[in-house]
Amino acid sequence: MTKPYLNKPTGSRSEALYNEALQHIVGGVNSPSRSFKAVGGGAPVFMKRGKGAYFWDEDGKRYIDYLAAYGPIILGHAHPHVTAAICRAAENGTLFGTPTELEVVFARMLKSAIPSLDKVRFVNSGTEAVMTTIRVARAFTGRSKIIKFAGCYHGHSDLVLVAAGSGPSTLGIPDSAGVPKSIASEVITVPYNDSEALEAALAHWGDEIAAVMIEPIVGNFGMVMPKPGFLERLCTATRRNGSLVIYDEVITAFRFHYGAAQTFDGLEAPSYAAIEPDLTALGKIIGGGLPIGAYGGRKEIMDKVAPLGPAYQAGTMAGNPASISAGIACLEALQEPGLYDRLDRLAASLEAGLAAAARAHGIALTINRIRGSLSTHFCNHPVSDYEEAQDTDGELFAHFFRSMLEQGICLAPSKYEAWFMTAAHTEQDIADTITAADHAFAKLKP
Ligand code: PLP
Repeated sequence: MTKPYLNKPTGSRSEALYNEALQHIVGGVNSPSRSFKAVGGGAPVFMKRGKGAYFWDEDGKRYIDYLAAYGPIILGHAHPHVTAAICRAAENGTLFGTPTELEVVFARMLKSAIPSLDKVRFVNSGTEAVMTTIRVARAFTGRSKIIKFAGCYHGHSDLVLVAAGSGPSTLGIPDSAGVPKSIASEVITVPYNDSEALEAALAHWGDEIAAVMIEPIVGNFGMVMPKPGFLERLCTATRRNGSLVIYDEVITAFRFHYGAAQTFDGLEAPSYAAIEPDLTALGKIIGGGLPIGAYGGRKEIMDKVAPLGPAYQAGTMAGNPASISAGIACLEALQEPGLYDRLDRLAASLEAGLAAAARAHGIALTINRIRGSLSTHFCNHPVSDYEEAQDTDGELFAHFFRSMLEQGICLAPSKYEAWFMTAAHTEQDIADTITAADHAFAKLKP
């Protein structure tokens, strides 16, 4: 393998800005997943502007973007319909601290796309949404423990930072410091796609379990489908135990079709009812690129939330007109006929091209693709749980990542993160990406 172009000084503006950022911002980044620590270190690329499937760095270099801001930018950057909605909202006043009609309109839109949501509440991030579903589940059941799945990331609230995937795993800190043992002891972790382990945990902790929290389709240790029957069995066993099922659909909602994973026919569930959760957390795409989160679910559970019930949750910025307007515009644009099929087709040709290029150069590569999103794993085995996702070649990924970046293709700097297709990508972008990958694989040859 041709070794390191890792962490060489480049004299770029990104490097200068990064060196300055290090003086003022912890680690130079405002989210650890943006750091290049796991891909050889050095300065991350500082982006200046984006349009469609591209963004440009501080030196004016253009990149094809598969990061999509870790998911929200499904329409591409600065989509005209979303941009117009944000500008209108800004001109009209960005924050009132009162209810607005926009919130009602948006709540209605979400409910009609995701029928398990009798009632919703808007918050400011996926982290907040998940954190609150746990609080509400505890308030409803009077129980305190939760079960989660190894490698699933649910934001950075204390309770779910145990065996958390993607960002924390990339940096080698799946169990964060600063989370008291007493809190960690409230979380039981079982392997994804392992029904027996889940049922054993439910049997062991029984009436202490408030909820089982899951990414119904995983987006945080690559893109991983639940095995056929897994979610159905999870729902049956959890309900039998008197616990609630919480789906974290922060990544998955509006990702594969106009709806959530819980209503995605790719899951091959016998019926939507068989896999319907009690509570759902949302974020990312539903904000059209502005900060947002939302949670919702069955009426009698949601009625536990203040001001109706005793579970407190609030937010100065919650439901702000700018985020809600962007979210409405984004969902409107996503209703364009054929849009999701196009994402699927583009990602399918990307998958085929990457697989062929890897094969041609003797690189072992597993690709998991679900409609317009995919993940690449440098290994020669399938990836269907966290252990398998960990057992992949991070060094090879780091070199691949760097080579792609050099060639103007931007991926997330982590072997666990997905590639997201946007509505703005073209067939030419896919062809250029495959050519770049071919070149990168040639350099990685064993
Ligand atoms: N849940 C899932 C499945 C996520 O992927 C993420 C973020 O990546 C979150 C929750 C947290 O969302 P946020 O970063 O908006 O707080």
